[in-house]
Amino acid sequence: MKTNKTVAFSRNATNVFFHILTRCNLKCRHCYINPDQHGTATLPPDTVKKRLAVFAGPDNPANVIFLGGEPTLHPDLAGLVRHARVLGYASITIDTNGYLFNDILNRVTPEEVDYFSFSLDGATAPTNDSIRGTGCYDHCIAGIRQAVARGFNTSVIYTVSTANLHELEMMVPLLEELGVHRFFIQVIGIRGKSALENPARNPSQNLQVESARWMRIIPDVAEKAARIGITVTYPKVFLGKDEPFECAGLVAKNFFIFPNGRVYRCPLCEDFPLHQFEFRGDRLVERGRINEKDLFQLSIPEGCVMNRLIQPDNLAYGPDGTPEYKIACCLLKEEVTLS
Ligand code: SF4
Ligand code: SF4
Repeated sequence: MKTNKTVAFSRNATNVFFHILTRCNLKCRHCYINPDQHGTATLPPDTVKKRLAVFAGPDNPANVIFLGGEPTLHPDLAGLVRHARVLGYASITIDTNGYLFNDILNRVTPEEVDYFSFSLDGATAPTNDSIRGTGCYDHCIAGIRQAVARGFNTSVIYTVSTANLHELEMMVPLLEELGVHRFFIQVIGIRGKSALENPARNPSQNLQVESARWMRIIPDVAEKAARIGITVTYPKVFLGKDEPFECAGLVAKNFFIFPNGRVYRCPLCEDFPLHQFEFRGDRLVERGRINEKDLFQLSIPEGCVMNRLIQPDNLAYGPDGTPEYKIACCLLKEEVTLS
């Protein structure tokens, strides 16, 4: 039987999204990394370890996702993974573009890493590589095969936009053939480089998928994948008028850490100096007003305040000016599994 559930924000566990560097070998069209806002440093291992220690503890279950840039470019990633285990992190994930630098698969074990999560934005090389760059598809597929062959749990992240929605369904047989058991469908955010392809500047470049297409295609593909045993997670995005809206920034413990010391609670704020916290040395300090926390508390009929501010193109209004739907928190997910 298929189970479809909305995954409530985790109020107990802390999720640490740790960008240990912003350097990357690729230049993806939708990259959200913004060096002016996030810094360009590769963090020394000691700094990463001290900052990891801030969020973990015996009474504080925590998960860490190592991110970049491309995190496998960090020469000490294997040691950081092991240190996170020592600190008691409940789960450890490495997000990668598939190039798997520094021989990482031979320097960590499946017992140490819960998931290698690969980014693929097309079921074929032409579509993926038009977004992520020539040769990326072959590298990523080869990386997934190597990880699966070595016994690692693998997942794939697919960032849906108008440039690749047509190949989403083709991902289902591809994931089955590769032996991938988790599939994360993401929605393109108007952040980083995507913000420069803003339709207000260039209408032919609108990468955002309108609500009717999203509702028609995404749940259907998720169900097809679930039927063959793949767990699929995708953002809810659109909420009916009667569905409750909640801002993760107020109720969940998510921390998005960047090399320049900024610590955000909301990914949509990451292009702006709105971070609620920052590291001063190795101390986590809450910043004064105005920061993202002040925005989380605003209540508007459109749902997410940050969406209203930075990507209003995905809103629609009726003749009387009321919104036709609300935009959910970008961190609210639907999970589809076979039970
Ligand atoms: S692989 Fe990730 S960090 Fe690198 S350019 Fe692409 S989106 Fe940006
Ligand atoms: S995406 Fe919107 S609802 Fe979610 S944390 Fe950010 S501001 Fe809050």
